[in-house]
Amino acid sequence: VVVDEFRWGGMENTGATTMNGDAVFDAHAAIDHDLDGLIAHELAHQWFGNLVTCNSWEHLWLNEGFATLSEGLWLEHRDGRAAYQGFLWNRLQGVIEEDTDPTAPGMASKRYENPEEIFGKPADPYSKGALVLHAIRAKLGDDLFFEAVAEYLRRHAGNPVETDQFRRVLEDVSGESFDRFFWQWVTRAGVPRLRVETSWTDSDSFDGGTLNLNIEQLQPIDGDSPAFALDLPVYIRETSGASVRTSVRIDTRAAEATFPMRQRPAFVAIDPELAIVADIETVRPGDWALAQAEHGPTVAARARAASQLTETGDNASARLLSNIARDEAEHDAVRIAAVRSLIERGETGMLGAIAMGRVEPASFRAAFAEALADLPDLASDERLGDWLERAARSDRALTVQGAALIALAKTDPARAHPIALYFSETDAHADRLRRAAVEALAKTRGEHTLDTLLALTGSDTHFRTRVAAIEALPKVAPDNTAPVRVLLQDLVGNRLGAVSHAAIDALVELGDREATSTLRQARENARSDHDRWRLDTAIKALENQAN
Ligand SMILES: [Zn+2]
Repeated sequence: VVVDEFRWGGMENTGATTMNGDAVFDAHAAIDHDLDGLIAHELAHQWFGNLVTCNSWEHLWLNEGFATLSEGLWLEHRDGRAAYQGFLWNRLQGVIEEDTDPTAPGMASKRYENPEEIFGKPADPYSKGALVLHAIRAKLGDDLFFEAVAEYLRRHAGNPVETDQFRRVLEDVSGESFDRFFWQWVTRAGVPRLRVETSWTDSDSFDGGTLNLNIEQLQPIDGDSPAFALDLPVYIRETSGASVRTSVRIDTRAAEATFPMRQRPAFVAIDPELAIVADIETVRPGDWALAQAEHGPTVAARARAASQLTETGDNASARLLSNIARDEAEHDAVRIAAVRSLIERGETGMLGAIAMGRVEPASFRAAFAEALADLPDLASDERLGDWLERAARSDRALTVQGAALIALAKTDPARAHPIALYFSETDAHADRLRRAAVEALAKTRGEHTLDTLLALTGSDTHFRTRVAAIEALPKVAPDNTAPVRVLLQDLVGNRLGAVSHAAIDALVELGDREATSTLRQARENARSDHDRWRLDTAIKALENQAN
């Protein structure tokens, strides 16, 4: 059922998922968009969330982890294993970036003031939940994993569940203990940060030599956060093309392993299947890095190698990165890892050449535009600025237009500003151009920025654009806050929760102490515990700013 102005992407009501109005597409929007991920996610909730339901918010990952994994499982079914791998790789990058504080609440934790915190916390029940379930799948193999999942649903159908009940099913079906695994990846916050050095030593005494692995856990280790215990998968590709899979056990800060071999390998990939939810940095001989980026057995292995080819002054690796970036048969995740390495190396000439070629498909073009936003000096190759401007003005895919405009706003604000003003008056599916304009204006801050944003907070604007415009106001109006404050205080009582919450947050960001009385009054009329909690948090934040 499609509901206009529905705040979330979807809601898994039993037997009838609610989706917001953006789920209705025209042909233009369908160029680079489909609803398969959302539909797979909400459909999975009919089992994980509805047939069995987490007993309290602490166990939300049992709902959202399975629903998110199901998006990947659908991709695997529709597009093959590489698509599943790419999905997991992208999710892992988010977890590596966010889940950094070992003292924060873990994925399954009783520590929260309001359920809303759990949906956005660093130990993310969506992405980390899906990756943990994938790690269990990798550990057990498909037969046992899916048998355990079916048993979990059978045993608890129609009942609330907690994390321990899922663990017990896994243990019953597999005969293995999952006690430590769950403590490390579900209860405890943070993921292992591993540095793995691989090297080769020729032997004096026999034909061949030794492959050496030095593994170190770099995250802080103490009594509360001991070293992780894990079996690190190692994939060895021989020059003949044959491969060997093995693993190294590590349960202390550092570990070493050696493998005598008849010949020096072509390359050695660490955890190519993403069986371990961890941040893995690899140090290895240059030729192994090149060979893995080109011939690694999985998307994750190739993306990991490409993302680590960042040392400058080496032509062979720059050429390889450029070839990977252009390779339309390669997964977007690997191609973008190559683009990002070229950006980090400052290879603007090569990036300009890529922009002049065929930049397909649209999903890659959008990611390419987004990556260019991180280029420190766009002007050093004028082809890049030209490409971004052309993509913003006339690309046939809306996502590309939006990403290109935002990248241009960051790298060349004067050039982006007139396009942003034009987009602020242009209709598109899900109001995506106007929303991109708001994000761009927050960066360009040129003529008419404040008037344009104020106008977009009105009730005739798409509600997501309104929210974006409200969020942008404190950033563009530091010296001219009077009209902004009046407007924001007025919006606190808005009938749309998303609009009201954005206004509350913006008042806090402006540090508007005079707003406290408006917020107190709104608290008296609050429609839900959730709204009351938002207002209490905001009032407290403003009072703390005053002290
Ligand atoms: Zn969900």
